[in-house]
Formats: sequence, C-alpha cells, structure tokens
Amino acid sequence: MGKQNVLIIEDEPELQEILTYNLEAQGYAVHVYDHGTRGLEAIQKMVPDIILLDIMLPGMDGLEICRHLRSNKSTKRIPIVMLTAKSEEVDQLVGFQMGADDYVTKPFKMRVLIERIKSLLRRANQPQDDDTQVLSSNGIMLDRLQFRVTIDGKSVTLTPTEFDLLWQLMEHPGRAYKRYDLMDAIMGDDTVVLERTIDVHIRALRKKMGDKADLIETVRGIGYRLKSNY
Ligand code: CA
Repeated sequence: MGKQNVLIIEDEPELQEILTYNLEAQGYAVHVYDHGTRGLEAIQKMVPDIILLDIMLPGMDGLEICRHLRSNKSTKRIPIVMLTAKSEEVDQLVGFQMGADDYVTKPFKMRVLIERIKSLLRRANQPQDDDTQVLSSNGIMLDRLQFRVTIDGKSVTLTPTEFDLLWQLMEHPGRAYKRYDLMDAIMGDDTVVLERTIDVHIRALRKKMGDKADLIETVRGIGYRLKSNY
C-alpha cells in the first residue's frame, strides 16, 4: 500500500515546516501549497486522502475552497480539517456549514492534529453505508446504481449529465445552485464548458420531465433549484 497523501494549504512558512516534518515522520506523503487557488487546483488534480486547510489565504480563502470541494463530485468526500486562529471562532461554524469535518485552533498540539487526521482517515476508509444510491421525491425516483429514472412510475431515459444534474438538485431541495457550481459538480475538472451549457442541459431535462418540469426553478441571476415545498 502506498503512502496516504496529505495536502496542506497554509501560508505561514513556519507552520508549513512543522506540519511537513511531523506528518512525514508519521509516514504520510505531504504536499504543501501557500495559495488558495493553486492549492484547489492541485487538490482537483491529485485528489488527496485528506486536506488541511487554513482560512485566511492569498488567492481564495479556506471557506470558499471548502465550498468548492464539497460541490464537486470527485472531491466531495475528502476529509477536511480547518486550521483556524483563535480570532476566527465564528469561521469554524461557517466552516462546518461549508462541509469541513473537523478543525484545530492555532496554536495546536501536533499530537492532537495527528489523532484527528488518523481518525478521519479511518472513517473515510470504511465502507460507506450512508452512501445514498436512491433519491426519491415528488414522484421522481433516481437510482444511481442501476442508472434508472422513473417519474410517476414511468421509466424515463436521461443522459448521464442530465442524471447528475437532477441528482444534484434533488440532493438539496430548495437550495439555489449557481450555474458554475452545477458545472463543477457534473463535469469534473478538466472539461471547459460555458455556463450556457448548463441552460441547454436543464432545458433538455425539463422537456423529459413533462409536467414535473416546473419542479426545476430558474433562480434569476444565479442558476437553478429544485422546489422544496411540494
Ligand atoms: Ca493564513
């Protein structure tokens, strides 16, 4: 078994050094970035086993990075530990809302951080019972294992992209998704698409949904959401 990859985005040189030294000593392969956007790009390329994330960063802040990772299919399950300063306690709450799994407050004890890392990696490597394979609401049923869709009991054929789009919207009814986030979630990272592409897929999807079409609402200036109070 190869080494597990820990990717760190942290712009304090001293902390970078301490983290690298200690985590390498624990047998991890350590990758350090000091810039938000470049770190995010690296994550999308290598999909590390766990991410340590500072909040205040040049380029893009840690919360925004977190949000991106959680809305992207290939990175949404990577454990994230926030490294927060004491003055950023409010941000910890936001961090959890954005999908961070844990946080440590600077200055932290290395031993504490390593325990957290180990426990998150253990959890991440367990088979995921809670990994939902079927979503069902408003008469629409999506089965991800069988790639099957029924609307009011009738089978409907969707393209993989349409399926992923509808899955994404149905996972969080009522939540408004920006076109950009929907693209992220369904296209992966290296596909360059125009935001308009989403509109085209949504139009096709609505057509196939028949009289359920208006479940997908256009949110002006933002993107789309699934009606929640049906
Ligand atoms: Ca910082």
